[in-house]
Amino acid sequence: MKTDIEIARAAPKKPIGEIGEALGIPAEALLPYGHDKAKVGQAFIDGLAGRPDGKLILVTAVNPTPAGEGKTTTTVGLGDGLNAIGRRAVVCIREASLGPNFGMKGGAAGGGHAQVVPMEDMNLHFTGDFHAITSAHSLLSAMIDNHVHWGNEEGIDVRRVQWRRVVDMNDRALRQVTVGLGGVANGFPREGGFDITVASEVMACLCLARDLKDLERRLGDMIVAYRRDRSPVFCRDIKADGAMTVLLKDAMQPNLVQTLENNPAFVHGGPFANIAHGCNSVIATRTALKLADYVVTEAGFGADLGAEKFMNIKCRLAGLAPSAVVLVATVRAMKMNGGVAKADLGAKDVEAVRRGCANLGRHIENVKGFGVPVVVAINHFSGDADAEVEAVRAFAETQGTEAIVSRHWAEGGRGAEALARRVAAIADADVANFAPLYPDDMPLFEKVETVAKRIYRADEVLADKKVRDQLRLWEEQGYGHLPVCMAKTQYSFSTDPNLRGAPTNHSVPVREVRLSAGAGFVVVVCGEIMTMPGLPRVPSAESIRLNDAGEVEGLF
Ligand code: ADP
Ligand code: MG
Repeated sequence: MKTDIEIARAAPKKPIGEIGEALGIPAEALLPYGHDKAKVGQAFIDGLAGRPDGKLILVTAVNPTPAGEGKTTTTVGLGDGLNAIGRRAVVCIREASLGPNFGMKGGAAGGGHAQVVPMEDMNLHFTGDFHAITSAHSLLSAMIDNHVHWGNEEGIDVRRVQWRRVVDMNDRALRQVTVGLGGVANGFPREGGFDITVASEVMACLCLARDLKDLERRLGDMIVAYRRDRSPVFCRDIKADGAMTVLLKDAMQPNLVQTLENNPAFVHGGPFANIAHGCNSVIATRTALKLADYVVTEAGFGADLGAEKFMNIKCRLAGLAPSAVVLVATVRAMKMNGGVAKADLGAKDVEAVRRGCANLGRHIENVKGFGVPVVVAINHFSGDADAEVEAVRAFAETQGTEAIVSRHWAEGGRGAEALARRVAAIADADVANFAPLYPDDMPLFEKVETVAKRIYRADEVLADKKVRDQLRLWEEQGYGHLPVCMAKTQYSFSTDPNLRGAPTNHSVPVREVRLSAGAGFVVVVCGEIMTMPGLPRVPSAESIRLNDAGEVEGLF
């Protein structure tokens, strides 16, 4: 059997100009990066404003297991499936972070016969967007310490600098550092630390901004430090917002690539799915909606985090409304949610599948709670027994939801035609009545409770006075209208990663809250959250090299 990279390399790619032309993007509006990637120019995007929008389809999943559910693979497969049945569809997914590639094998471009290409580029430097974000972030870091060095006119309390540094590498040694050592010429020593680039608030701003003007405003709104009187110092006060926007000028434009079947795909932006919202850029999604009849997009993690944030953050802030949700389930994930260990997944176990379906059932109910119709995609793996697949289908039926087996991984778009037909029919029927879960004007703590009770089915939210006081202070300062961005484990509805299935009788402890004033949300941290990953004992980087043909080996 061919590997993902072998399939991707064998794909007959079309020149990117042809992909653009088929979408109605004229050559002069495409900014090519080589032969198979291009950015779409802003003037062209501005000119689309008067056009009607296509239908937005979200692909999300049950709680992920270490087995991998295949959301990206299904997003790409469904896009190809829609095109295969004669519909005009575009796929919108996230760009990949560089660092994790060198830790464990794995790409972010889909898999099998449902991938976007060029997949090596997409997983490495691509069009340089993340480097630009690292640079813009670093510029602000440098300007903050420089501001303090030259007299600290804004009165920054160096013990309360919030703005950290970033690098797109898994480098645990940088999590906590001391900067400014070595004497007077090097500034004022203070503690700091590094996050991985995708955790930068600059990334979240870029992904939620409508255009460059909006991006500049969001960057200016970011809080970088506090004064001794606890008043915030903004990026705007440091006067970095203009130059950062200059650095991000090209990164802001959506990247056009193609699927293995030469259908268009936008790959743009990639915010963390825990301390940020985990969706591709608003500008890519909005542009795609103007160019196609159906836009298939993905949100990170399971539906309790990914779909919830897609609806409550991205759709709310960007004025988007999904027409349908595809909930990806796999027999393997249902087995693991039913208590089977990863090592035992190979053995047929219909009962475990049935038990695990409780997880699927709760996600179905939750998605329906947003007023959007849902269809289950059973992402078929070659080892799945027919009886196991049937158990998932039959369960979905008891929930009043159709489950469709999809074989895009093995067969490409052809294998997803049944799913595509159903999704198109649902979207065309215009039955969605989308509403976010809570109104803007609900107090922040009640927003957290709403998500915890309605999505996680927790009994209560536990938070110290410190957390509650902080939320109240932000409300007084004018941030009360923001949505909340939950950061918790992706493996469970609860905050305990080992509680699979559909746990009840649990509570959600809030450890801390953070204000992302530029991005426009309040991060609610429930549990251990890692913003700078480390490398494993044997990183995959040890076996990555160029072969004699000049091809990358060992990356996937
Ligand atoms: P997600 O987006 O949910 O994280 P991906 O789509 O990236 O998941 O898939 C994770 C991994 O699982 C990829 O390596 C992909 O090739 C593999 N995969 C996905 N679907 C299948 C399938 N039906 N059969 C075998 N492998 C699959
Ligand atoms: Mg994915």
